[in-house]
Amino acid sequence: MPIDFHFDNTYARELDGFYVQWQGDSAPDAKIVKFNHDLAFELGLDADALNSSDGAAIFAGTIAPTGASPLAQAYAGHQFGGFSPQLGDGRAILLGEIIAKNGTRQDLHLKGSGRTPFSRGGDGKAVLGPVLREYMMGEAMHALNIPTTRALAAVTTGEDILREGYQPGAVLARIASSHLRVGTFQFFAARQENEKLRQLADYAIHRHYPDMANANNPYIALLQSVCAAQAELVAKWMLVGFVHGVMNTDNMTISGETIDYGPCAFIDQYAIDAVYSSIDANGRYAYGNQPKMAKWNLARLAESLLPLIDQNTDRAIEIATVEINKFDETYARHWVNGMRAKIGLSSAHGDDEDLINQLFTSIENQRVDFTQLFRALANATSGNNNDVFALVPNSEGFRAWVSRWQERLTQETINPEERVAAMNAVNPLYIPRNHLVEGALTAAVNDGDMNPFDDLLAVLKHPFTPQSNAETYAKPAPTDFGPYKTFC
Ligand code: AMP
Ligand code: MG
Ligand code: MG
Repeated sequence: MPIDFHFDNTYARELDGFYVQWQGDSAPDAKIVKFNHDLAFELGLDADALNSSDGAAIFAGTIAPTGASPLAQAYAGHQFGGFSPQLGDGRAILLGEIIAKNGTRQDLHLKGSGRTPFSRGGDGKAVLGPVLREYMMGEAMHALNIPTTRALAAVTTGEDILREGYQPGAVLARIASSHLRVGTFQFFAARQENEKLRQLADYAIHRHYPDMANANNPYIALLQSVCAAQAELVAKWMLVGFVHGVMNTDNMTISGETIDYGPCAFIDQYAIDAVYSSIDANGRYAYGNQPKMAKWNLARLAESLLPLIDQNTDRAIEIATVEINKFDETYARHWVNGMRAKIGLSSAHGDDEDLINQLFTSIENQRVDFTQLFRALANATSGNNNDVFALVPNSEGFRAWVSRWQERLTQETINPEERVAAMNAVNPLYIPRNHLVEGALTAAVNDGDMNPFDDLLAVLKHPFTPQSNAETYAKPAPTDFGPYKTFC
């Protein structure tokens, strides 16, 4: 029986001129190395039929399944601040759109399926390490309740691809609520194709923010919606210590989902200037810069939308500026609320923000493990300070902060067990720690051993719940792990 995805391809149908119809390369020996049964179920797909050699050929891009309309999307983007008017899917294709069981429309996209008309100098390929990293990170973020694209499958192609040495060629089958990016708008704005811009904006509104179609000016409402979604998203990143690493405008979605896990990492020791990416020499996308960079990217979206916002450019700029300047406040609201939950506050007081800022001042340069700190704070709610003090042994400021925080806790009415449970429901015990991810990827790529990957993924699917025999997954890297660098 042919595999049926029940595609309904609105992008292909409605946005002629926004893409190039394109097939994936033929993979010599496609094999599934990882298949996401849970996600297949949510999408209403036949997991048994897909987790097969036929499925492997589909996910590699070799065979286009029934109903697919494979295409490479056009987009532009600011990369590290510099504008490229034409990027586009240089190594990816959109196979089509699936309606999940919950009614949401999802793109099925292949990354690493070969060259396209947008490839420029690139080979159009992806390799196993980064494909598995994206798989792991997306699933970890999803389990942390952070909006994200997700992996449906990872396949090897049977080719060897030259990167830092040869690696197995691989393709990631990715699910996203769409692949509309800030850069998609920039592509048509830069070409001053205002009718196409309007068509794209209408499509984005219909797909992601349908209520906004009825707004006075739907395009201002679109900008507002994207700004709100991104402010919330980046606050969530900051609250778990996620560093995206390459927040170029082509890697920022209109939906508010995290996309494109390249040189990303979670911080271990708290450091506002943490950078892991080998290509981010100036720290543009450092941990603490992420809110600022998100706002900068949104300003590029606003610029792209100017012709739709108002025919009078000065007036449009005025309106867009007001919207962009709301970002700081929206971001801060999400972040402060999230931090309140992390430190066990269920009510809001006027000086909470100051309390939270004092915590971060007191742990600056203390090399404290960010994830462990908040789990330890849950224990300290009952006045047992041993664990937290052991994590931050050399800061008088931190001791003072703990006293102030415990004083603040006395003003809450929530019962102590409930408070601990609430804290442990937002402060993960397990995150994809760099040394663990690296170990899992090395075993998979060098030895073909997927066991460490599978074991880590199983733990990360339940990041808030203590699991048996998983103590090592909650521990920081051994001291000999050294500084961590990630590559795309
Ligand atoms: P990224 O940095 O992954 O967001 O990619 C930026 C742009 O480079 C996109 O247009 C990609 O399609 C393109 N690109 C990245 N890697 C490759 C590759 N190996 N071959 C062709 N294009 C690529
Ligand atoms: Mg990208
Ligand atoms: Mg990438």
